[in-house]
Amino acid sequence: MTIEHTQNGTLAVLNPATGETVGRVHDHSAAEAAALVDAAQAGFEAWRATTPRHRSEVLTAAFLGMRANAERLRDLIVAENGKSRADAAAEVSYASEFFRWYAEEAVRTPGGYTEAPSGGVRNVVTRHPVGVAVLITPWNFPAAMATRKIGPALAAGCSVLLKPASETPLTASAIAEILTEAGVPEGVVQVAASSSASTVVSAWLADDRVRKLSFTGSTGVGRKLLAQCAERVVNTSMELGGNAPFIVTAGADIDAAVEGAMLAKFRNGGQACTAANRFYVHQDVLGEFTEKFGARIAALRVGDPAQGADIGPVITQKAAAEIRGLVQRAQEQGAVIAAQALLPDDANPAFLAPTLLTGVPTDAEILREEIFGPVAPVVAWTDLDAMIELANAPEVGLSSYVYAGKLQTAMKIAERLEAGMVGVNRGIVSDPSAPFGGVKQAGIGREGGAFGMEEFTEVQYLSVDWS
Ligand code: NAD
Repeated sequence: MTIEHTQNGTLAVLNPATGETVGRVHDHSAAEAAALVDAAQAGFEAWRATTPRHRSEVLTAAFLGMRANAERLRDLIVAENGKSRADAAAEVSYASEFFRWYAEEAVRTPGGYTEAPSGGVRNVVTRHPVGVAVLITPWNFPAAMATRKIGPALAAGCSVLLKPASETPLTASAIAEILTEAGVPEGVVQVAASSSASTVVSAWLADDRVRKLSFTGSTGVGRKLLAQCAERVVNTSMELGGNAPFIVTAGADIDAAVEGAMLAKFRNGGQACTAANRFYVHQDVLGEFTEKFGARIAALRVGDPAQGADIGPVITQKAAAEIRGLVQRAQEQGAVIAAQALLPDDANPAFLAPTLLTGVPTDAEILREEIFGPVAPVVAWTDLDAMIELANAPEVGLSSYVYAGKLQTAMKIAERLEAGMVGVNRGIVSDPSAPFGGVKQAGIGREGGAFGMEEFTEVQYLSVDWS
């Protein structure tokens, strides 16, 4: 059970699997948050004056620091988030790679030097750090969502004010300590947890010295923040919600598709913005796919991840209740539970049994909502165009997955999908070297790769008289 507990200016962090308090962090007020901007501005001025090579070396030290602390970080993530130990270890590895990637990018800032077509002028184009950046992260990847923002921000020369999710602030604080040990100066990375996210963030966004907001979270909160940023025309990057289709064609390698489906659906217990949310499986292979996928789902071990379970609880009892409601209403609309894993006898209400739903009508609520839990609804299809229309129906287009035998067939389908990312015969798209992000209401901008660093820079062009 994870609920916010505030007491004497502290926020308790609870283990969702056991309900035990695993730590306490300071609960920042608006005034305390506002006061951090002075240090952030001073930190920015000092940090931007360092050389790209120095920033690169500090980020390399931070990468090595995360590696050296990998087990401690893994256990912290398991304790405050409730994901499996394997998922937490994979997250630490993925998260640390952002520091390595941006250590390499820090010394590769692109620029331009061209002759204007009219002649007599040289255009010199340079990039500069955007300034003090506010970073807001969700609870589902407490390490990776932080490093995916901090890495490029520091590489570019920005300072950051990070507000982690109130459910999972301990991992963010541990990463900030690693950055300090790596040589990040005072004021450059500051973390402020709070039981009132909007209070802290509003205090920051009201300050003229704050020039950037990089947000990862739900589309609803992202929309509110965009409106808030409009006041001062703050530069924004938005990584918002998803509702990924997972498409299987008649010619697909079904064993590979099932392997990919397990990864796309059950990584993080289904609590990923990239999680497969809707399975569109061709009628000709529906039987084989659901039988094999169902057998894998039924074999998942649910329980306390600290004891080695494959699937832990979802983040709160409230989230679990909402997912149970979605399943129940899908059943009322005609869906059938085709396979289900067992729940341990002593499971608290935050635990959900991984479930395969078949016979889901194409207009079911469960296909429109981001499930964010271990439930896999399957829809059969025969007409490719009609299926693609269904796949593209949601107003969010983050990730998608296609399994088709021939690569060319898979790519032709992928190119018709309204999504920022498509797993082509793969069940995972996240990679520090690649642009992560969505289209439509799934967000604005990209994280990862060279794109991620551009988000923390401003372009300046010098028009130089050449007559
Ligand atoms: P959320 O939007 O409720 O919260 C995200 C963060 O915003 C938290 O730190 C929260 O404290 C803060 N917040 C909430 N209200 C705020 C406000 N009014 N002002 C300022 N900050 C506020 O999302 P969540 O439940 O923590 O995370 C799940 C969502 O995040 C899902 O929709 C998921 O798809 C999305 N997500 C997206 C990506 C991506 O890269 N696109 C990655 C992970 C998660």
